[in-house]
Amino acid sequence: MTLKQIFTAALLGLSLLVAVLLYRTLTLTLPDWPVPEASKVQPDPAQLAANLSKAVQFKTISFDHGVVDKAAFNGFVAFLAETYPALHQQAGLVRLNDYTLLYHLKGRDRSRKAVLWSAHYDVVPVIPGTEKKWRHSPFAGIIAEGYIWGRGTMDDKGSAIAMLEAVSWLLQQGQLPDHDLYLALTHDEEIGSTKGSQAVADWFKQQQIPLAWSLDEGSFVLDGMVPGISQKVASINIAEKGYLNVELVASAAGGHSSMPPAETAVTSLAQALLKLKEHQLPASLDGLPLQFYQRLAPAMGFTQRLLVANNWLFGPLIEAELATMPAGNAMLRTTYAPTMLSGSVKSNVLPIEARATVNLRIHPRDTVEAVIAHLERVIADPRIRLVAERGMEASPVSATDNAAFRLLEQVSRKVHGDVLTVPGLTLGATDSRFYSDIAEANYRYAPMVVTPQDLTGFHGTDERISQDNLVKAVQFYAELLLATTE
Ligand SMILES: [Zn+2]
Repeated sequence: MTLKQIFTAALLGLSLLVAVLLYRTLTLTLPDWPVPEASKVQPDPAQLAANLSKAVQFKTISFDHGVVDKAAFNGFVAFLAETYPALHQQAGLVRLNDYTLLYHLKGRDRSRKAVLWSAHYDVVPVIPGTEKKWRHSPFAGIIAEGYIWGRGTMDDKGSAIAMLEAVSWLLQQGQLPDHDLYLALTHDEEIGSTKGSQAVADWFKQQQIPLAWSLDEGSFVLDGMVPGISQKVASINIAEKGYLNVELVASAAGGHSSMPPAETAVTSLAQALLKLKEHQLPASLDGLPLQFYQRLAPAMGFTQRLLVANNWLFGPLIEAELATMPAGNAMLRTTYAPTMLSGSVKSNVLPIEARATVNLRIHPRDTVEAVIAHLERVIADPRIRLVAERGMEASPVSATDNAAFRLLEQVSRKVHGDVLTVPGLTLGATDSRFYSDIAEANYRYAPMVVTPQDLTGFHGTDERISQDNLVKAVQFYAELLLATTE
């Protein structure tokens, strides 16, 4: 081969590569969605707001020590019976562990598999000392400035009330869904769901009732929250991460701090934590993250689109870039975060033991066992003992090529207009993890729009939902049922 031939071959190869890159970029387009016709469901916004306002006023708080304010929880249950009489007449109701409610509405076609909707009505407490920081008192249910204010409006009484309103609306129209509908309102989601959704799952197993799919909280319609995208993104989450706490216990001889040895329990613990920081579990676009970004890429700038469309070549580059952002990083890998530390009990005493709790969020591609093995391999230090809690595996990943997912997408667009719908990953834990073996698929999505400002309200201060959001949520749930009646 002459130099010229080599040069020509290289040029040809390069042009071919550019052609492939461009072809893949230009053919990565948004799905061919039909233009949705707006929802005709028109609930009364004032009545809706009044009902959610009343719901907020019951202090159905889940405290870590597990004590239940019976009056508040019973009061809430009685309020539902009073407010939604048609539902209470037509649907069966089972109470599980006293406070979790499971409604059953029979559908028209008994041969179809039932569907489960779930929402929790317990709420987290207001952090003591922050009550005064709320613009409107957290349990007063104030309606002002176009919002309903208070603890639980977004997480998750808003969804609970919207679901009940939607079913009531359908019944008032003299209609029934095609399939049986179960509606679970759970009472201990904020402290681990062991009595609520666990009991719901056990009940379905006992009754041997197969469910086609379940819908619960876990994501929203994200506005201004996905970097590089100006359009709203309805993230219909198809999996959730697992959870594990591992305690690292470093042991040493102790003694007086005036004559410290070169290494103490604290320094060996610090070394172990640094090793973890430097040896993360691998990040990867494979699977759910790639599905997520491939859906979003056509709405991004040319460069991002080029990179995602050609992930076969640029995968490592995308992974490295995403890993620099906490949310992107959490999407790609199992994360670990040291959260609690303890050492000596006195300033001049060397500790015999120093402890660190590391909180891990397990990615669906990893298992608790494999993650613990990774930690042991990375730390590999005889001075450090690892004590792992039982932990919770990540959920299975639900399908996106089925009728249920397509329905959730269509109805989101019908209610919210031109939103991008994507399958996502819930980074925290929800009731849904108990539903993975009773339903064929589990979706985690509440149909409200959230902005970065709204995020501070979740478990924080000034939680609120706009009246418009509440109306849209009712439309969403009602449209899900209407779609089955056509
Ligand atoms: Zn919640």
